[in-house]
Amino acid sequence: MKRRTFLKSAALGVAAAATISAPAVAQSAPEIKWRLASSFPKTLDTIFGAAEVISKRVADATDGKFQIRVFAGGEIVPGLQVLDAVQQGTVEMGHTASYYYVGKDATFAFDTAIPFGLNARQQSAWMHHGGGLALMRELFKTYNVIQFPAGNTGAQMGGWFRKEINSVADLTGLKFRIGGFAGKVLTKLGVVPQQLAGGDIYPALEKGTIDAAEWVGPYDDERLGLNKIAKHYYYPGWWEGGPQLSCYVNLDQWATLPKSYQAILEAACAEANTWMVAKYDAQNMPALRRLVADGAVLKPFSKEIMEACYAAALELYGETAAANANFKKVYEAWKPFRDDANLWFRVSENTFDNFVLARSAQKG
Ligand code: CA
Repeated sequence: MKRRTFLKSAALGVAAAATISAPAVAQSAPEIKWRLASSFPKTLDTIFGAAEVISKRVADATDGKFQIRVFAGGEIVPGLQVLDAVQQGTVEMGHTASYYYVGKDATFAFDTAIPFGLNARQQSAWMHHGGGLALMRELFKTYNVIQFPAGNTGAQMGGWFRKEINSVADLTGLKFRIGGFAGKVLTKLGVVPQQLAGGDIYPALEKGTIDAAEWVGPYDDERLGLNKIAKHYYYPGWWEGGPQLSCYVNLDQWATLPKSYQAILEAACAEANTWMVAKYDAQNMPALRRLVADGAVLKPFSKEIMEACYAAALELYGETAAANANFKKVYEAWKPFRDDANLWFRVSENTFDNFVLARSAQKG
């Protein structure tokens, strides 16, 4: 009898413990519905698609409890105002290129790319193991945002021009759609830069509001149809050697997430970061073949233009660092990292690439 009583009490104890612990379990996996504003149009399934990768992974890893609904640029937030929307809490999250916000602070460019800066591998190295993420988060914190690297395009193309651009003189007065900090470099050489969201480029080029436009590379540019209006396709996009896309989360909203959801979201962004560059690397060459077959004229920028742009970029960095303490702080930390990364890549990657890429261009 005593034993039965004990067993009964023990069972009751278990039941009571289960009752008490149930709310704690529910709280650790709450149902959450967030909205994410992307800067990009849905048709661009790689740069826009990265946000969908994040959304799907987060939903799958939480048994559908943490839902992130992705909106294309312009649907609920204009493509170039994602930072403002996340800062103000209009949406909980965003997916964008931080260099769109250089008008607020030029330092944002380091979160994406600065002209003649890092390639995709080096950008990841700087962010995750070179102090970049911590430095950038100091800046984002002042905007009530935490950001995660969430995509990269790899080195971009130089864009589509109606007429040939052979010399620096050919740049004078050119109305060129170009993203980020690079517009300021080109202003020094007479270009009239225009920053337009991805979905607005084709109409502007078609109407003649702009003379030339760069976006990303063959796969995206074909989807935007830029080759249908301007046939001269220049390379490389020296302003974007490895531009990173970022996922923004409003800091107040971030604080409301259980630790497990924070970890899942962070991991999903890391997945998107490699997913995007892999997809571009796989899709760009077939797209470039189609573009050339369709009449695109492929040309490298002349050495004169490259050298003039390089000199203008260095001048701009000096001027910006002198005028902006945030920029100076990040630039002075970034530069020695860049120098070392370049030295290492010269020894290893560049030697490998130069030999193998030259060899693969030969028959047999
Ligand atoms: Ca671009």
